[in-house]
Amino acid sequence: MNPQEIIALEKQYVVHTYNRPDFVLERGKGTYVYDTAGKAYLDFLGGIAVNALGHRHPVIVNAIQDQASKLLHVSNLYHTGPQAMLARDLVESSAADRVYFCNSGSEAVETCIKFARKWGKAHGNKTAFVAFEHSFHGRTMGALALTAKARYQEPFRPLMPGVHFSPFNDLEAARALIAEVQPCGVFVEAVQGEGGIYPATDAFLQGLRAICDEHDALLICDEIQCGVGRTGTLWAYEPSEIQPDLIAVAKPLGGGLPIGAALAAEKVASLMEPGDHGSTFAANPLICAVGQAVLGTVNDPAFLASIREKGDYFGEALSGLIERHACVTEVRGRGMMWGVETTLNTKDILPAGYENGLLLGSSGEHIVRLLPPYIVDQGDMDKAVSILDRIFGAK
Ligand code: PMP
Repeated sequence: MNPQEIIALEKQYVVHTYNRPDFVLERGKGTYVYDTAGKAYLDFLGGIAVNALGHRHPVIVNAIQDQASKLLHVSNLYHTGPQAMLARDLVESSAADRVYFCNSGSEAVETCIKFARKWGKAHGNKTAFVAFEHSFHGRTMGALALTAKARYQEPFRPLMPGVHFSPFNDLEAARALIAEVQPCGVFVEAVQGEGGIYPATDAFLQGLRAICDEHDALLICDEIQCGVGRTGTLWAYEPSEIQPDLIAVAKPLGGGLPIGAALAAEKVASLMEPGDHGSTFAANPLICAVGQAVLGTVNDPAFLASIREKGDYFGEALSGLIERHACVTEVRGRGMMWGVETTLNTKDILPAGYENGLLLGSSGEHIVRLLPPYIVDQGDMDKAVSILDRIFGAK
């Protein structure tokens, strides 16, 4: 089937919730994907922070082939080895004591909502939540209520009640709001992704930890986009030296296959009983074998150090755009998670990227989002910056 026929089928048969460019991607290798015409695109969106090891990484391909030849799925009614081993690996590499597995980021957030509600019932019957401006926690009804974007929320009201938003990185505002609304949980991204690549300050996260303790609220870190090595530490909360009560994980953990997880402190996990929550597909042997391969590759001190080094290089190279182009106003981020703020509209920049063989993301109208795979090399970072130079220079 030729690309025009594929695009026509999509237009006729798929619900139109995405606007897609007019090429069809067919295969990938490392930092590149290729369309049906053989054109190469440098993939600096990585399937929206999913393809952390790039495309067709041998540890992922081998894990899939090996596990697919044994067992794919039996449901959570039975014990399977890869699930138990991935749970162990996640707990041993985080502040958590136990793992609840699911299938996506939104579902990990929904899980955290239910866990926090159960905690709240046992601690003064609290049901409210606090989240922050510019947050993104997902599109399902609970997660959507925590996502501070009117455009996403309005068509679907009424949402889950009792969600209160506070300005990001404003500790005094958060202190006052938490004292007033007495939430069972406070959701925060250590580096906000969809909302525009805004890193939380250490003082903000540390302050939130103390305020949550004071009011018996759970501190819930959404590490779906910024976690699993993205910012150069396995968890983006680590530099702040805080211990969250719940950690929502998804995107890169499955290496391109769907997985989500809520990592929980024992004081929360111990409140959940058989029958309280569940999922048919979650943590099947295939996805967990892949999860183990991804986590095992990323959670290596030398590998994480390489993400930090490359991130410093990339951040400096991107910052050069500010000096060369009046339309570039700010560069923010760390590791393999960067935002370039511009006076231009990302609706014009992304298509220019496609023309020049570069896949980019956006966070709203004025922030270009770059989420390269951790295996990126200096040559490809330089290439991305020179394409951005061309795009910003031509506008
Ligand atoms: N939380 C964060 C921080 C995210 O970036 C996303 C996805 N962009 C989600 C939650 C929702 O994840 P999913 O799309 O897998 O439901």
